[in-house]
Amino acid sequence: MRPTYLEVNLSQLKQNLENIRAHVAPAKVLVVLKANAYGHGVDGVAPFIAPFADYIGVAIVEEGIHLRKMGIATPILVMGGTLPEQLPDFFEYDLTLAASSLDLLSAAEQLAESTRKRLKVHLKVDTGMERMGVREYEAEPLIEKSMACSYLEIEGIFTHFANSEVSSLRGSALPLKQSPAMLEGPSGREKHAEQERPRNDIVESSLQLERFEEVLSIYDKRSEPHPPIRHIANSGATLLLPDSYYDMVRPGVLFYGVYPARDIERTIDVKPALTWKSKVAYSKVTLPGRGVSYGSLWQAEAQTRIVTVPCGYADGYFRRMTNQARVSINGKMYSQVGRICMDQFMVNVGDDDVKVGDEIVLFGQGITAEDFADWAGTNEYEVLTNIGARVPRVFVQIA
Ligand SMILES: *Cc1c(COP(=O)(O)O)cnc(C)c1O
Repeated sequence: MRPTYLEVNLSQLKQNLENIRAHVAPAKVLVVLKANAYGHGVDGVAPFIAPFADYIGVAIVEEGIHLRKMGIATPILVMGGTLPEQLPDFFEYDLTLAASSLDLLSAAEQLAESTRKRLKVHLKVDTGMERMGVREYEAEPLIEKSMACSYLEIEGIFTHFANSEVSSLRGSALPLKQSPAMLEGPSGREKHAEQERPRNDIVESSLQLERFEEVLSIYDKRSEPHPPIRHIANSGATLLLPDSYYDMVRPGVLFYGVYPARDIERTIDVKPALTWKSKVAYSKVTLPGRGVSYGSLWQAEAQTRIVTVPCGYADGYFRRMTNQARVSINGKMYSQVGRICMDQFMVNVGDDDVKVGDEIVLFGQGITAEDFADWAGTNEYEVLTNIGARVPRVFVQIA
C-alpha cells in the first residue's frame, strides 16, 4: 500500500453519532455521507455506520446510487439539486427526492403514475439560504400539490440554516462589530470575505425557524393534521438550537468530530476520527544559498536536514499551506518548508536524526482540521472534503 494513507477510526464516528443521538433524542438522526463522507471514505464509513443511522443524506443522486450499489438499505435523502431527467434513478434505486419546486414535484408524480412505482419525497422549503426550495411565502401551492399526489409518498419537509453556527445569533442581540470569521461562519477565513457587514445582512436562525413554522402551519388548516417528518438542524443547530430538532437532525461535520465554528459552544462531545500518515521518502542535508523547491521560496540559514514526504497538493495537502504547515515526526513538531509540490513536500528537521521510512503524521495527533484551515485560508469543511482520492483510506476500530 502507498505509504501516504488516511487512517479512519470508525469507532470514533460511531461514538460521535451516539453522543449526538443521546443529545437530540427523541429526534432521529440523518447522517450526512455526501462528498465521500466528508473525505473519510464512504466505502468504509457507509457500511459500518448505516445500521446505526435513521436516514442517510447525500448531495447528489450519483452518491445515492453508489450507496445502493454497495448494498446500503437505509433510507437515503438526496438533499441537493435534481434535474427532471435524473428522476428515473430515484425510482430505480429507491432514493428519496428533495422536491424543491412545483415542477419537480409534478414531474415526479407523473413518472410515479406512469411507472406504477413508489417514490418517497421530502418537500424542500427555502427559509433563508436563497438556494434551493420554495420560499415560505410561496410554499402553500407546493404543499397543496403534495397533498393531491396519489402516487408519491410525501414523507418529509425540510429547510436549511444559513447561519446556525453563529452562537451570538441565538439571542436577539448581535453586536455590530463581529470578527469576519464569525460573520462568515464556516467559510470565514477567506481573505476576500474580510469585510464588516451590517446586521441586516444576516438571516438569523430564529427568523428561519419562524418561517419554517409559518410553512408548517399550512398543515393545521388542512384535513391532514400531521405534517410529515420535519427537519432543519445541521451541525450548528444541533449544537445550539434544541428548538430546531423537530423530528430529525442532519449533522454533517459534527458527526465527523469537527465543530462547525471555533467559538461555538461544545454542547455535544465529539472527536475527529482521522489520522493522515506518511513516511519519509528522502533525507538530505541542505546548505545556505540553495533554495528548496519550486520558486526557491525558502532556503536554510545554516546547514540543516530536509526530508521529503511523498504527498502533495494533488492529495489535498493544499499548496497554499506552503511554509506554514507543521507535521509531527516521532512525536515532535517540524515546519514544512519550500513550495508544496503536486506529489511531494519538504520538512526541515534541523539536526534531528530523521531517516527514510520514519513515520510522519500530517493530520491528527494534535494537528487539527482547524490548523489546516488556518494554514490554507479556508474552512474545516474544505480541508476534509479535499483529501484526495489518491490517498488510501484504512478503516480501523479503536475504542
Ligand atoms: C451538508 C448538509 C448538511 C450538513 O451540514 P453540516 O454543517 O456539515 O452539519 C445538512 N443539511 C443539508 C441540506 C446539507 O446539504
